[in-house]
Amino acid sequence: MTEHAEHTEHTEHTEHTVDVVVVGAGVTGLTAATELTDRGLDVVVLEARDRVGGRLWTDTHDDVMLELGGQWVSPDQTALLATLDRLGLDTFERYRSGAGVYIGRDGVRREFTGADFPVADRTAAEVDRITDLLDGLAAAMDPDRPWEHPQAHELDRITFGAWLAEQTDDVEARDNVALYIGPAMLTKPVHAFSALSAVLMAASAGSFSHLVDADFILDKRVVGGLQQVPVRLAAALGDRVHTDSAVDLVEWSDDGAVVHAAGRTWRARRVVVAVPPTLVSRIRFLPNLPPVHLQWRQHQSFGIVIKLHVTYATPFWRDAGLSGTAFSPYEVVHECYDNTNHGDARGTLVGFVSDENADELLLLDAAERRERVLGSLARFLGPEAAHPVAYYESRWSFEEWTAGAYATSFDVGGLTRYGPFVRQPVGPIEFGTSDVAGLGFQHVDGAIRVGRDLADRVR
Ligand SMILES: Cc1cc2nc3c(=O)[nH]c(=O)nc-3n(C[C@H](O)[C@H](O)[C@H](O)COP(=O)(O)OP(=O)(O)OC[C@H]3O[C@@H](n4cnc5c(N)ncnc54)[C@H](O)[C@@H]3O)c2cc1C
Repeated sequence: MTEHAEHTEHTEHTEHTVDVVVVGAGVTGLTAATELTDRGLDVVVLEARDRVGGRLWTDTHDDVMLELGGQWVSPDQTALLATLDRLGLDTFERYRSGAGVYIGRDGVRREFTGADFPVADRTAAEVDRITDLLDGLAAAMDPDRPWEHPQAHELDRITFGAWLAEQTDDVEARDNVALYIGPAMLTKPVHAFSALSAVLMAASAGSFSHLVDADFILDKRVVGGLQQVPVRLAAALGDRVHTDSAVDLVEWSDDGAVVHAAGRTWRARRVVVAVPPTLVSRIRFLPNLPPVHLQWRQHQSFGIVIKLHVTYATPFWRDAGLSGTAFSPYEVVHECYDNTNHGDARGTLVGFVSDENADELLLLDAAERRERVLGSLARFLGPEAAHPVAYYESRWSFEEWTAGAYATSFDVGGLTRYGPFVRQPVGPIEFGTSDVAGLGFQHVDGAIRVGRDLADRVR
């Protein structure tokens, strides 16, 4: 231990000794803690917030239960599905009967059924061709090692936007393919991340075709809310979980570490830091982390998205034969869905404003922002959409212990340059969240997979 640690031992009288300290009570940290506890290890979980769950947060506003963070479960997310099963949580299908709505580059609103947007034949053919291309690239990728893709370096040096422009001169085809990975997934403009990061996003969900299929990727929700996963995991861990305990200092040597949080200290053989890469720098490490660790986290950043929850007296769109699903690369709300709660007579829509549109809207005052959002929903679903009974915006960029949404991704060139280091331990310390997952990258499924892997590494 360092001099500082010796000093701490003399001045703080609350030092506890455990086998493993887990920093962060999101799904990753709680999964790791559960696995380690099941193996008989003495574990403590230290969480900065006054609640568990991190980017999963089910809360009630204006008498409506809202999923402020993650909510959807898709059939490929087998780690999450198994966890739901183990925790006894039920799922229900997103409402999806009726026609979807698409607003094209010409500004015309068109209703459609099936998976394909109502675009010109040439545009549709170009979307299909690029989808095949991306599916082929994703099939050649091990999402745990994207830097080993046969075209890794070539694809990581070009932005996804520039790559798309090389594939087709059909602007609407480009804008639609861009929508699925830019605004809808990485929540960054397509000039801000590489084509390799786009392929990783597709490979992590099995294929690009999965990402474009809303009925697949947004298949199920959890009755009572997805935050019940971390809440139930934490309940089983009991008094091993400490909220309001932001870790600010980790003193370490090859023999173990002393972890400081909220004026208390824990001595442990191993430490699992399950906080997003961008927040690791808020913790002081003595000695400091190796240079590559200080570097790579400066190249992985959160995207930005405003998640909108808009509730109406009834799900009026269903009476008009609409599913509530709507897309447009040309609208400020680029996608929206029926998000009515299980058994609720009211109708709720969820919509998303992403990347540069989110930047712009966050500069407006709340009334102007609401007007822009409701205007967009009304263009999709009709004038009634402008008159909700409840309206709420999840703005994760305001959250101190997240500061963005949905997750982090590398800048251009970062995945090949730094990817091999993201799971590298430092002395007794392991790091990970869904941000460094392969399968389930950026998703709860990835958080569970990373949590299990972290537990395997420290046992
Ligand atoms: C708006 C939104 C919508 C999403 N939609 C979906 C979806 O539909 N489906 C899906 O699968 N995924 C979705 N996601 C992503 C999913 O929620 C995340 O990938 C997942 O919850 C991340 O879990 P994690 O444990 O890896 O990280 P986090 O949930 O970020 O957990 C990290 C924890 O560490 C804590 N922490 C940070 N610093 C410290 C510190 N110094 N000391 C102690 N504690 C600290 C934080 O408070 C937090 O609780 C969405 C996310 C958002 C924000």
